[in-house]
Amino acid sequence: MVFLLLQTSYKGYMETKSRYGHVGRKQEGQRIEICPVAKNCGGCRFTHVPYKEQLQRKQRQIEQLLKEFGRVMPIIGMEEPAHYRNKVHAVFDFQKGKGIVAGIYQEKSHRVVPVKNCLLENEKAGEIILSIKDLAKSFKIKAYNEDTGYGLLRHVLVRVGHVTGEIMVVLVLASPILPSKKNFVNALCKLYPEITTILINVNNKKTSVVLGEKEQIIYGKGYIEDELCGRRFKISAKSFYQVNSVQTETLYRKAVEYAHLKGKETVVDAYCGIGTIALTVAGQAGKVIGVELNKDAVRDAVANARINQINNVDFYQNDAGRFLTQMADAKDKVDVVFMDPPRSGSTEQFLDALIRIEPERIVYISCEPETLTRDIKYLMQKSSYRMQEATPVDMFPFTEHVETVVQLSLKKDTPKIEVTMEPGAESNYTPEEKATYGKIKAYVKEKHGLNVSNLYIAQIKDKCGLDKRDNYNLPKSEDAKVPKCPPEKEAAIMDAFRHFNMI
Ligand code: SAH
Repeated sequence: MVFLLLQTSYKGYMETKSRYGHVGRKQEGQRIEICPVAKNCGGCRFTHVPYKEQLQRKQRQIEQLLKEFGRVMPIIGMEEPAHYRNKVHAVFDFQKGKGIVAGIYQEKSHRVVPVKNCLLENEKAGEIILSIKDLAKSFKIKAYNEDTGYGLLRHVLVRVGHVTGEIMVVLVLASPILPSKKNFVNALCKLYPEITTILINVNNKKTSVVLGEKEQIIYGKGYIEDELCGRRFKISAKSFYQVNSVQTETLYRKAVEYAHLKGKETVVDAYCGIGTIALTVAGQAGKVIGVELNKDAVRDAVANARINQINNVDFYQNDAGRFLTQMADAKDKVDVVFMDPPRSGSTEQFLDALIRIEPERIVYISCEPETLTRDIKYLMQKSSYRMQEATPVDMFPFTEHVETVVQLSLKKDTPKIEVTMEPGAESNYTPEEKATYGKIKAYVKEKHGLNVSNLYIAQIKDKCGLDKRDNYNLPKSEDAKVPKCPPEKEAAIMDAFRHFNMI
């Protein structure tokens, strides 16, 4: 299928074409069209923007956010930036005059915009979805109606192995029974012999979350395999897998470069998904520990270690913040931490534990620049980590999204710096109110059951290099006879300082 991108008047686009390879298969003089539903769909913000300019905009965005902390390298774009998505999702609906439609929710609404030939999606996956729509019609399968709760077919998810070509189809249904299941499967596989597995996922909740808990394999092995960075990966329906395989390799290469592994290090891969980073770096490290919340992803990660015959990697199913805190409490030694959290970014709990563990290097991979910036600021404010370098990678051409990989290293002899944390809506941290002596005393009393004087607080402030508001009879000389804060109270005051984000 030929997807035509832009009208011939888009000169800028043609220039881009020569620099970044061509998108679609346009022949000279052929009319090029912009995606007909781009305005309503909201998936692509930049269909009208030449690719070169898209990259410049993303570069500017990252520079604006991160330049003050360190070097920002030029964004790495794609040679062929169309049809990169290996995972395609369509929502099904019944619309008057159109019948059953497959498409995407209009931005910030639950209206379904029918989609054909999406610029982002793997073309075969797009074709499969349209065929499922036609099959549903002939099998008299009704699309689910969100308002009435009537109907069966809610969503279809198609995943394509970039290297292996294996294809998974997930039919998300409101109830577990698909009428004429066998015939439906046969008809679909006849049309697309490249489909290797089909699953039913049951989602009977009134929710915009696509996948429900229950799953039933109706054809094949229930997962697909793909290759990335020379390793093979098992991918289940509910596991996260980067949607742009070409750029994922670029991204991981940069991340590995930032880690400077020499072969003996202990490495943590936090928010590890199916273990792609952990297993990519395992050969260059002594030991790798992966942590991930999603059970299916962890199961895949364990299987992936086996498939690739890698045995210096352990995977744990846990919240990354909780897990890292346990590592910090156990005083485990870690040399390098890769962290690749979801869009909401990391958590204070995770970052505090990271600071306590003190890995030499942190490689932070982020798909959301705002939360990345927030987390970097937090680290720089609370510790001696400094951003060495950041590289934006365009994982999501034609959309406003951008991935960034950042290298942070520990500069032990550098003083902590003042970084302003704007109380922006993006931040999910609750900035503590300004800590007064009274508040510190109250906190220590409540949390530790101890009474502490202004003098003791001032002494510990002094010790931590914090500004003191008043001179609480501090000793003028080292040997002056002034009561000295006992260790127990010192620890409690330090805890209060941490609580109030003072240290
Ligand atoms: N590094 C992987 C996955 C990155 S996506 C890759 O490149 O493929 C982010 C991952 O974080 C998802 O797999 C998600 O399930 C996981 N996640 C989300 N919240 C988490 C938490 N609190 N603790 C651990 N993992 C979490």
